[in-house]
Amino acid sequence: MGSKDYIAYFTMEIGLADAMPTYAGGLGILAGDTVRSAADLEIPMVALTLLHRKGYFRQKLDASGTQTEEPVSWPVPEWLFEMEPRCKVEIEGRIIYLRAWKYEVKGVNGYVVPVYFLDAALPENSEWDRTLTDYLYGGDEHYRLCQEIILGIGGVRMLRALGYSVIKRYHMNEGHAALLTLELAYELARQAWEAAYEPIKQIITPELVHLIKPMCVFTTHTPVPAGHDKFPLDLVNRVLTDYHGAFVEREKQFCPDGVLNLTSLAVDNSHYINGVAKRHGTVTQQMFQEYKIDSITNGVHAATWASQPMADLFDRHIPGWREDNISLRHAVNFSKREIRMVHQKAKQELIARVNLIDPVGMNPDVFTIGFARRMTPYKRADLLFLDSARLVDIAAKSGPFQIIYAGKAHPHDQAGKDIIKHLYQMKAMLKDKIKIVYLEEYSIDLARTLIAGVDLWLNTPQPPLEASGTSGMKAALNGVPSLSGMDGWWVEGCIEGVTGWAISQDRGLENMENIDKRVVDAQSLYSKLEMIIIPMFYNEEDRYAEVMRSAIAINGSFFNTERMLNQYIAKAYFK
Ligand SMILES: *Cc1c(COP(=O)(O)O)cnc(C)c1O
Repeated sequence: MGSKDYIAYFTMEIGLADAMPTYAGGLGILAGDTVRSAADLEIPMVALTLLHRKGYFRQKLDASGTQTEEPVSWPVPEWLFEMEPRCKVEIEGRIIYLRAWKYEVKGVNGYVVPVYFLDAALPENSEWDRTLTDYLYGGDEHYRLCQEIILGIGGVRMLRALGYSVIKRYHMNEGHAALLTLELAYELARQAWEAAYEPIKQIITPELVHLIKPMCVFTTHTPVPAGHDKFPLDLVNRVLTDYHGAFVEREKQFCPDGVLNLTSLAVDNSHYINGVAKRHGTVTQQMFQEYKIDSITNGVHAATWASQPMADLFDRHIPGWREDNISLRHAVNFSKREIRMVHQKAKQELIARVNLIDPVGMNPDVFTIGFARRMTPYKRADLLFLDSARLVDIAAKSGPFQIIYAGKAHPHDQAGKDIIKHLYQMKAMLKDKIKIVYLEEYSIDLARTLIAGVDLWLNTPQPPLEASGTSGMKAALNGVPSLSGMDGWWVEGCIEGVTGWAISQDRGLENMENIDKRVVDAQSLYSKLEMIIIPMFYNEEDRYAEVMRSAIAINGSFFNTERMLNQYIAKAYFK
């Protein structure tokens, strides 16, 4: 591939290391895993994001489970290298200067993919403007729009300042970066004006933006409307003052409903659009019927998410698995005894860590269920407790179990915060019967230990709202089966009794009215635990080990970012 084959990957968040709190959750973890696999596959990729000097937030939970948030400061120069070039954007008529900091992601064979973090904290900028790249998903919609101008418009300009003059594809990881389409059109217009020695005219038209369509790729990540950024026109007109009024003149063409919808902007101006699982592709297709929506199912970076004991096992039997994830299919040959022993090591590490944090006395021989993700209503983290008497009954009849929870709620998501409190209440109420722990400050490091160390990974989203989900993929890679509702990636990953188990396999459920889906799903969840999973764990350990093994061989070998990026190459980047 020549230098002109660069893929520029734009993302509002990215999870690269815990010391760099520049991610909030799944979207950022996926971005980090994508870049890691791009480095492994030696794809000429360059990534852009914002610096987020104050991070997302540090989660504090008090004794009742009430969440409070603190900014996170981190020593930027210890992690990133300051680049010399500067660029600027105009916001509300003010010039904002930007600098970039570089992080190098190294692949298995040493190939480097740079990630550039845009930073507005320069002395040339006003005190307020310097804060614009501080908080990930912080502030109000005005702050958010400023950040999206910096990412989309500033990102393209920084690429040019850094010497990336020719880019093969611009990949928007979610709609936050969609303003880059306007900037690319503006570049075209400017070139035309300069060639004709004409003064700048007001001509960013939808037709012009369409010219850049062959260069743009858009991945949408959620069917939840609140996840799609929309800004009222008067705000846009006030804030987006770059382009010498070129955009304002045409606002009606870009904003038919009086709002600037960044998802629509991205969808309208990309040659390839995808959802992040087959099911999500179908749901997205219904939302945007006049466009063709494809799907590429998400993955995880295998070498990052395999626990140390599991990676050692792979090294012993499948040399080369790090750069050839498909070879993990050979896990079907693992002995059941060995896979149990390796998993037990990961489990002991987890239980020891949990007992240090919250000494409720968790036991490494007891069946352990894990649940960790963003705490927000549609994920239904407390579905397990819909009928807590039944749950206690299951523990008495089928065998004991313990549960480990983690996850942050967005600072403005009160319903999400209430779910954490509810889980704390359940923990106190059931403490003599079922041991429950809620771990504060979910992070990459905690996720690695937690997901690899439990016996069952639970997921209870309300279909069809889970676009993909990736933590179940991390679990599969570690030989941890999932018990999950049929949504997101699990529709593709679940082979009942082979890779894990489904909650309410009958997918027609969400279209039915007059039934309480929570009750139906909870009952299915209870009966799977009671009749199948817990008895198998305690009484048929060889059968349980077979499920663990198949989770790796069938799902670990497929739901990884290596396979995912190869699909982006074939369908979106080099087509
Ligand atoms: C994997 C991961 C997520 C995303 O999990 P989902 O199952 O996709 O919701 C969020 N946070 C952290 C720290 C993770 O490692």
